[in-house]
Amino acid sequence: MWTGLAVGLTCIAGPASGAEVPEAVRVFDGGAQMSAASWECTSGHQVRKQRITLDSGLRKYTFLVSGCQDPSHEGKHPCSEGNFGMPDPISGNWYWGGFFRVLVNDVDATVCDLKDLRVTEPGPRGAFQTVWAHPDAEVGLRLLLLPGGNHVLANLVWKPTAGATIDSVRVQLTCYPSFFTAARNRAGERHCMTPRIDQTEPTTLELQPESDTWLYYYDAVFDVAKGEGDGPCAALVGPEGVQGGRVEIGGYAVQTHLDLKPEAGDARLAFYDFSGLTNAAAEAYLRANADADLAELQAADFRPQAVRDMDLGALKAEALKLLADAAEDGPTFEPRVKELLASLDDLKGRADTGDWVAEADLATRVADSADLFWKLRAFAALNTP
Ligand SMILES: [Zn+2]
Repeated sequence: MWTGLAVGLTCIAGPASGAEVPEAVRVFDGGAQMSAASWECTSGHQVRKQRITLDSGLRKYTFLVSGCQDPSHEGKHPCSEGNFGMPDPISGNWYWGGFFRVLVNDVDATVCDLKDLRVTEPGPRGAFQTVWAHPDAEVGLRLLLLPGGNHVLANLVWKPTAGATIDSVRVQLTCYPSFFTAARNRAGERHCMTPRIDQTEPTTLELQPESDTWLYYYDAVFDVAKGEGDGPCAALVGPEGVQGGRVEIGGYAVQTHLDLKPEAGDARLAFYDFSGLTNAAAEAYLRANADADLAELQAADFRPQAVRDMDLGALKAEALKLLADAAEDGPTFEPRVKELLASLDDLKGRADTGDWVAEADLATRVADSADLFWKLRAFAALNTP
């Protein structure tokens, strides 16, 4: 028993364990793929799918964003298994087809138009963002995997569109802990454990946000320690944006409903897939580390690295000095430098109001300006006596 626990903890403890874990998260974006609908929607419709993978070396998480593009849906993009899934590390646990929904005024944002879906950090942290154009709000989700990390940090934001009022924001999470019981004609024993309580199927667990900061989903029958199932999963719930919620612990799916504070505009969650671990090892991990992981989640800066590191004032001052130092070669670069600085000013202004698309564009623009600065520095050096 003790040996099993120790091995489990070693597997998930991170770089300090001595395991060979890469220093940077690897990110893979499969891009938009169109295909004819089969199970997703009506035959003859075209479905858009995009997979993005974040791999820390310790855990590899793939997310699948799906939606039917047929105009008959009038601006919605249904998909029968959900629109935001997690196919890796396993199809169970956080459900591969769709595990995440966010309902604003009872309308699911993940079914609405995709305004943005892109990788925002290709390393050393791995991150991507999704922005949906919900009729009543712009809804954004950033997912972040830290180097050596075993869980994905999530920042959800919602901003009312002009003239709209947000009365409710609810997150719905779907998991099948460890094994697809009913689909394979097996009975399990689903549980949801929090720091406060452990409840068994079939029941509804009413959440107390201040206490229930981690939710651990396991199946007492399908436990790796018994040679059954794939292993459990868990979530962290930052209590600040949450006013209540419940977990419907069924014999098959386990549905978690989080009622967010509509006026908060921001909530923080994290997702763990503990596949491969025994129930005891996963629980021991949470009891030992969930508080620290929650503090890290609460403190995390989800902005792209180029934006976090940017000092716009210094960058502008350097650009103008280099232009001056480039002497007679300066005018050749002046239009490009002026256009760049104006663009950075504009994007920074919009990013500061919470426009995530502008913020991601800002990061790209800063990264792309490296070549221009390199050339300017070369000419400045040539013209400096
Ligand atoms: Zn369709």
